[in-house]
Formats: sequence, C-alpha cells, structure tokens
Amino acid sequence: MRILKNISIRIKENYYKVVWRWYLTPIRLNQIDKKYSKKCWRGCQENGTYIHMWWSCKYVQKFWENVFKEIKGITKIEIIGRPEIALLSFMDNIQVSKELKELIANLLTAARLLIAKKWKATILLVNL
Ligand SMILES: [Zn+2]
Repeated sequence: MRILKNISIRIKENYYKVVWRWYLTPIRLNQIDKKYSKKCWRGCQENGTYIHMWWSCKYVQKFWENVFKEIKGITKIEIIGRPEIALLSFMDNIQVSKELKELIANLLTAARLLIAKKWKATILLVNL
C-alpha cells in the first residue's frame, strides 16, 4: 500500500493487525471456548464479528462519526465514512494532496489505535 511507505512502524503495525485479523472478537473467542459469549462486549446485544467490533457496532459508529467530523474540522475536507477508508485508509477516490492523505491516514490510525486500546472495554469513548 503506497500510503504506508513513509510512515512509522506503529502505524504499519496497526494496519497489518487490522488486515490480518490479529484482534480476537467475541465470535472467535466463542469458537475457541464456548464459555465466552458471542455478543459484543460493548453492550449492544449484536454478535461480535470482526466488522461489527471495528465498524458496524452502534457505539463504534458514533465514535467513527466523531472521527470523520474531527477530520473535516482539521482538513476542511468532507470524507464519507466508509469501512475501507476508516479501517484500511484506502483513499484512492479522494482527490487531495499526498500530504493531506498522509495526515488523514495518520488521524484514522490514531482512531484505530484508540479502538484497539479499548478493545475489550464495555463502553467505548464516543466523545473525542
Ligand atoms: Zn456492538
């Protein structure tokens, strides 16, 4: 991925961990041992699939809405929040400078790192 060329190891590590599904989800833990519930840890009562935990959980959606709002505030560019942009920093269809794309990628990575840091928390911080 071109955007990862000049960025820090920590950002690359987060990107690869997301892509290679390093983070264990409730569904995956339940497959390993039935004593673990399949339900999302954040209390929404949905099954905790990988995409749910990173993107579609209603609590994570509020967080991502805030992230994209903050990005708009910083860059003055409105980006329609989609999982490929938020989780993988795919911005091929966004017409901005290379420097701005790197800034946005760094902001998105900071958001992913925060989700990862609060991975098993029952309540995710929704207000930045
Ligand atoms: Zn959830």
